Amino acid sequence: MTTELSPDALTEVLARARQDYQDLTARGLSLNLTRGKPAPEQLDLSEELLNLPLGVHTSADGTDVRNYGGLQGLPELREIFAEVLQVPAGQLLAAGNSSLELMHDCLVHALLGVLPGATSRWVEQERIAFLCPVPGYDRHFALCERFGIDMIPVPMTAEGPDMDVVEQLVAEDPTVKGIWCVPKYSNPDGACYSDATVARLASMNTAAPDFRIFWDNAYATHHLTEEPVEIADLLAACDEAGNPDRAFVFGSSSKITMAGAGVAFFGSSTANLKWLLGHNAKRSIGPDKVNQLRHVQFLRDADGVRGHMERQRALLQPKFEAVARILEAELGGTGLATWTAPRGGYFVTLQVPDGCAKEVVRRATEAGIALTPAGATHPYGNDPRDAVIRIAPSYPSLPELEQALEGLAVCVRLVGYEQQAR
Ligand code: PMP
Repeated sequence: MTTELSPDALTEVLARARQDYQDLTARGLSLNLTRGKPAPEQLDLSEELLNLPLGVHTSADGTDVRNYGGLQGLPELREIFAEVLQVPAGQLLAAGNSSLELMHDCLVHALLGVLPGATSRWVEQERIAFLCPVPGYDRHFALCERFGIDMIPVPMTAEGPDMDVVEQLVAEDPTVKGIWCVPKYSNPDGACYSDATVARLASMNTAAPDFRIFWDNAYATHHLTEEPVEIADLLAACDEAGNPDRAFVFGSSSKITMAGAGVAFFGSSTANLKWLLGHNAKRSIGPDKVNQLRHVQFLRDADGVRGHMERQRALLQPKFEAVARILEAELGGTGLATWTAPRGGYFVTLQVPDGCAKEVVRRATEAGIALTPAGATHPYGNDPRDAVIRIAPSYPSLPELEQALEGLAVCVRLVGYEQQAR
């Protein structure tokens, strides 16, 4: 990535970077690029939800949504998200407001209960390991740490995880029980799994009979261009390949409607759904169906979701364009950074020279620009190259975002040129 500079040229750019950094810290900024939270204007798009369900308290089949029951969630809401998440409505569960909770629960139930196809509970086995495509989502890694599940990093490519590595690891090691996947507009590098990757995941030979793909389709409808990416249907592919129980599909409306008051979904084979519903029945007497009905009235159908996501895109796209524009203007041609141009999702990945990411984040924090800790994109917080920084452009206003990116670019120049000068 590094472009060679003559000693004189390096002295000059370093002096300028030091001056720019001094000016930056003098501004006393307080900006935040850490988490992928929707901005208030995005939440405003769903404000109508607060007035729903408009005195109606029965669902289409006459269920009184105010009461207990309906563990699988309202059928009409599942119909809407069946198309979005590529899961037949009958195999979809709508429960709670957080898909991360459902992922957590699936791990707990796999540890404490016997999964379809398993010979014993995971907790009885000496070692359990998950494949973690990197860079990846820190909360997936945190779940593994929480439950003592070993994490094996697998490199990401533009088409998803490196499938040669995945196939080899799952074929030879029965302790490898799962893989984390964010198949569309992945967190954080925006990659989309190719059809070939999906087919290989569905059909690969696994030494563990109870291997599961945790298919976290958090950004299924979160397009940033006029050409939505479509990915292959994993559940159908697993079925066709004779591995019907392999896929656990997750999703939610967190970044469609309200991040703290949406609806979460789990989709899988009939056997897996029965397994989870059985455990859920001990945990709950039924989900919040009032919120589910509210969502049905607000979104109406899959077209309604698409229309709503167009309005989200109108707010988000200018922010992603600003990130690309400023990084190009400030760092283009320096050889100090590369960055992703995601076609959807919530993140941009910035790659700086090896050994620089932590220092860039430290310098930015010192200048009042909060960034996700370097290393968070890797298992155990350990990015062996110390090169990846995740940028979350959604929450700040456009002017704040622009200031933060300009400041971040100053930090990259400072740290990058300081390293070259050493
Ligand atoms: N998965 C991914 C990949 C995410 O980026 C996020 C939010 N940052 C979540 C899950 C969380 O989803 P939920 O709000 O449904 O728990």
